[in-house]
Amino acid sequence: MNKKKKNKIPEENREKYRQLVEGVNSIILRMDVKGRITFFNKFAEKFFGYRENEILGKNVIGTIVPETDSAGRDLKAMIADIMRHPNKYTNNENENMMRNGQRVWISWTNRAAAGKGKNGLEVLCVGNDISKIKKAEELLKEMDRRKSSFVANVSHEFKNPLRTLRESLGIILDGTMGEVDPGQREMLEIGKRNADRLIRLVMNLLDISKIEAGKMKLKMDRINIPELIDEVIASNKADIAKKRLILKKNMPGNIGLMRADRDRLAEVIINLLTNAVKYTPAGGVIAVTLSGNAKEVRFEISDNGPGIAKEDFKKLFDKFERITAEREEGTGLGLSIARDIIELHRGKIWVESEFGKGSKFIFTLPRDCGKKG
Ligand code: ADP
Repeated sequence: MNKKKKNKIPEENREKYRQLVEGVNSIILRMDVKGRITFFNKFAEKFFGYRENEILGKNVIGTIVPETDSAGRDLKAMIADIMRHPNKYTNNENENMMRNGQRVWISWTNRAAAGKGKNGLEVLCVGNDISKIKKAEELLKEMDRRKSSFVANVSHEFKNPLRTLRESLGIILDGTMGEVDPGQREMLEIGKRNADRLIRLVMNLLDISKIEAGKMKLKMDRINIPELIDEVIASNKADIAKKRLILKKNMPGNIGLMRADRDRLAEVIINLLTNAVKYTPAGGVIAVTLSGNAKEVRFEISDNGPGIAKEDFKKLFDKFERITAEREEGTGLGLSIARDIIELHRGKIWVESEFGKGSKFIFTLPRDCGKKG
């Protein structure tokens, strides 16, 4: 007798709870294990357009939950699953339906609650309308898609005229069209350098839009690693010599072969090496160090340049992020592309650096990037 009295909620508190549940601007409902509605607050009535006495005892499926949502998700199965594992759905977003058929997005908090039914279990659901947020998200995604396709189209249109311009300047510089005096040569070289720079930018923009659209596909090749490294170093030779940089190559003789996209891997190493050359002052030291085992290959490109502050380590790999922007020309896209390419290969890339003493960019790749797992 005493025990019963203790558990009973005093009448005045019950009234307080009732006012709270009825006054709140959220949907509050309960359903039994079969998905039948056992409680529906005032806000839910207004929101869905059903009176409490019309909806009590009805199944949520076919009333406030459509069998499948607009994207084809099976909501009937979802409701059955909520009943079995309410904890998995503590926070859940799904499409719902008003009485007039209009679809709405609701963010739900669900939890198991003791109920009156045969096995005494119900689910208590509290929901808020997030249709406006969903619509805004959709709009943002659509705008982002349009922006990416605009950037891709424009970059593509730029590429060929710029290449033609560079080739024409190259032909004049070669002297095949007639002698070029030193003054003319200087101007032509400036023109060619700038055309090169624009082409690099356009190629980077094309890569970024490909990655964003999920259209960058890898083509797996068998790669002789020392050969690839030598090619990449050769393409940077002129700049290395111009700055009188010392380049060290530490590579075990048996580093061997790997499988990855050859052009993309070369692109990553070129980006890292170009940065090392660009940011290290004249006379500095750059090192390319490789190591590996049967499963993994590790690449390190280090320099004794200005280094990078710890708080910038992560940021560096973001698009358009530049730390020393005022010092050297660049777009802030190189490291972002490098990270995307490495991650597409299921590898990892990061930086280690002591500010003022130099930087080390490291990436690891599976020996066979084509293998699933
Ligand atoms: P970009 O070189 O075109 O600016 P990146 O994405 O390649 O773009 O690099 C982003 C930024 O990271 C650079 O602007 C520079 O501040 C910094 N950074 C990259 N490599 C180095 C390096 N080896 N030493 C010092 N800073 C570097």
